[in-house]
Amino acid sequence: MPPRILINGSKGRMGQALAAAAKELDLTVGAAVDVGDDLVGALASCEVVVDFSSPLATRTVLELAVAKKKPIVLGTTGHSAPEKAQLLALASNVSCVWAGNFSVGVNLLFALSRRAAAVLGSDYDAEVVEMHHRFKKDAPSGTAERLLEIIREERKLGPDALRHGRHGITGERTPTEIGIHSLRGGDVVGDHTVIFAALGERLELTHKASDRGIFARGALRAAQWVVAQPPGVYDMQDVLGLK
Ligand code: NAD
Repeated sequence: MPPRILINGSKGRMGQALAAAAKELDLTVGAAVDVGDDLVGALASCEVVVDFSSPLATRTVLELAVAKKKPIVLGTTGHSAPEKAQLLALASNVSCVWAGNFSVGVNLLFALSRRAAAVLGSDYDAEVVEMHHRFKKDAPSGTAERLLEIIREERKLGPDALRHGRHGITGERTPTEIGIHSLRGGDVVGDHTVIFAALGERLELTHKASDRGIFARGALRAAQWVVAQPPGVYDMQDVLGLK
């Protein structure tokens, strides 16, 4: 019997995408909660929580999930690093999936980029290009940041390896740098390309998002998975068996 799902942040863009995806996948939404609703009462009728609300709400919903021993999927972003460290410590007391990007395709892109960075080595110049809609306020995207982190981990490079765009007389490219370029325009939901370029060949790994439903479907997949896991913090790489 699939778990009954509590959607926290139900009136938001993601809350609505989750409700639509649950319907499409024939999953049961036991309760849909937004600001001012009775979260404690709603939790009693559900087996798993899916939260895409506000970073200000994370501690409350997580404390409740821990107290009631309910598995939880956390999609909300925007926590500071110290705040996130505290929340992760709390989350380790319950079965929890926490991911900054629930798209199955993007998570495979993370795994493929790690493999490519390792196999191709530093002779293959790595560059990341991302494009998002004209309303996006930050750059580079969180997903691009994660891709850069993965390449840096494989190549044992520090944050000073990053080149945010290039301009003027930059000199020849060195093997220890990674370029990152952010394009903005129109209504693009999110495109990411990782390029590995050597003399004579070039590999490009591209993911293009065209619908928020991908995050919702990934989060619901995580919800079905996490109910069978022992307490601990997992990510989408765990859910998809990519580790
Ligand atoms: P949104 O602003 O459209 O919706 C947020 C909803 O949460 C609103 O309805 C708001 O009233 C509600 N809310 C705020 N505080 C609450 C509280 N204390 N209790 C219950 N509900 C509360 O935002 P969105 O686009 O749906 O995104 C929500 C969050 O999910 C953001 O942090 C966003 O960055 C994140 N997000 C993550 C992923 C991912 O893959 N991890 C993908 C998309 C969005």
